[in-house]
Amino acid sequence: MIRTDLHMHTCFCDGKNTPEEMVLAAIDRGMECIGFSGHSHTPFDESWCMSESGTEEYRKEIRALKEKYRNRIVILCGIEQDFYSPQDTGGFDYVIGSVHYLKAGGEFIPVDESAEILKKAAVDYFDGDLCALAEEYYRTVSCVLEKTGADIIGHFDLITKFLETDAIPDIADPRYISAWKQAADRLIAAGRPFELNTGAISRGYRTSPYPGNPILEYILENGGKILLSSDSHSKDTIGFEFDRFEEFATEKTWIGEKT
Ligand SMILES: [Zn+2]
Ligand SMILES: [Zn+2]
Repeated sequence: MIRTDLHMHTCFCDGKNTPEEMVLAAIDRGMECIGFSGHSHTPFDESWCMSESGTEEYRKEIRALKEKYRNRIVILCGIEQDFYSPQDTGGFDYVIGSVHYLKAGGEFIPVDESAEILKKAAVDYFDGDLCALAEEYYRTVSCVLEKTGADIIGHFDLITKFLETDAIPDIADPRYISAWKQAADRLIAAGRPFELNTGAISRGYRTSPYPGNPILEYILENGGKILLSSDSHSKDTIGFEFDRFEEFATEKTWIGEKT
């Protein structure tokens, strides 16, 4: 059984629980290693990220917990670095690189807030062509490792968050397929693991993880690495449905050696 979960949020950003509540829940669940991945500061949208001073507090708090619980669980202090965040990632144990925004017409468009926002952005900036918007998303994702210096690729196909409820984007469109394949090829070649992220299942948006099929199959067939993560925003979802997806995980434990 996989007992490592490196994608967890706390009340320092948009999570519900304190870091210590998360640690205790993880110990209860038999986890051996957990990593916190607070949202990096995004000055253009501070609604769900850590503040600059909050980031310092977060680091201190996790460092203290690392010591306090060192005989019971391995605790890492990471960061979920947004593509457009100016945050300095030095000093964190690891980085998850994630694209949460598209930049179009000088605006930052959140990818995972609502289907309406995506549809409106397609009209405003892509001549109503949602597939062109998705192409721009994957162009951005394809550069996520260079831009963020990430150890782990966060929710590769986040743009499909509303696929099951609003049928967007059209994942059968050959242009869409070509866009994700180009991004996947580039990232697979870099050798860093992709998350298999169960966060949208635990929060009720989807029945399948990121990345969904056929992307997950493609990554595995082409030698890409997969690491399970829960993207927990609450202590109740640490390691969420890891048993169900364990067979896909090529990385079973902490993938770095920076501890
Ligand atoms: Zn994210
Ligand atoms: Zn996250």
